[in-house]
Amino acid sequence: MVRVPEPVIGVLALQGDVREHLAAIAASGAVARSVRRPAEVDEIDAMVIPGGESTTISKLADEFGVFDPIAKRIAGGLPVYGSCAGMIMLAARILDGRADQRAFGGIDMTVRRNAFGRQVESFEAPVTLDGIGGRQFHAVFIRAPWVERVGAGARVLGVLDGRERARRAAGEVAGSVVDHNAGRIVAVRQGHLLATAFHPELTGDQRVHRYFVEMVRKAMGRHTTEG
Ligand code: GLN
Repeated sequence: MVRVPEPVIGVLALQGDVREHLAAIAASGAVARSVRRPAEVDEIDAMVIPGGESTTISKLADEFGVFDPIAKRIAGGLPVYGSCAGMIMLAARILDGRADQRAFGGIDMTVRRNAFGRQVESFEAPVTLDGIGGRQFHAVFIRAPWVERVGAGARVLGVLDGRERARRAAGEVAGSVVDHNAGRIVAVRQGHLLATAFHPELTGDQRVHRYFVEMVRKAMGRHTTEG
């Protein structure tokens, strides 16, 4: 039997909830590694960009000399999953960003930072993701962005569910606020890139990470047979 090696997935470890992603990856059939040096960027098969603060991640990526190496690998086909701040880092266009903030880009989408506003800095709501079966995700949003527009290259995987289910799942959050945001895009995929506005790494639900590991395996398989 041919033993297929587990993909090595780096978590960008400059700021944010790195530990939670490392654990979720390790539990999803891949080798997890933290990455913060340029040489480490070369040693991974894929990357996760955690939630945190995109302005800080952008600044530290520059300071640690990994911004350009990562951008280059993304352009070269490195599979990347970004949650929340990580989603912002994968956006081609950012609204309400800081003037000096940079993103790696790669997903043809316009993302609005802190889009849900002060009323709902943090909330939870059910989300269904296209291509991931089973029950709805109990999605946790923390000062999350939303995707305001996607271009032709990007595919919407999930939108915020409104109505009755959101009211119940959101608990302390007023249903009308969630309803108001129903239909907002919160998960997107473009080829080897995946982004969610919410944090599956915080809820112990590994389906998004497993889906990503599967994306990585497919990307590696293609590489082996074609290259
Ligand atoms: N508001 C943060 C930003 O702009 C994202 C928040 C998060 O990742 N939980 O980067």
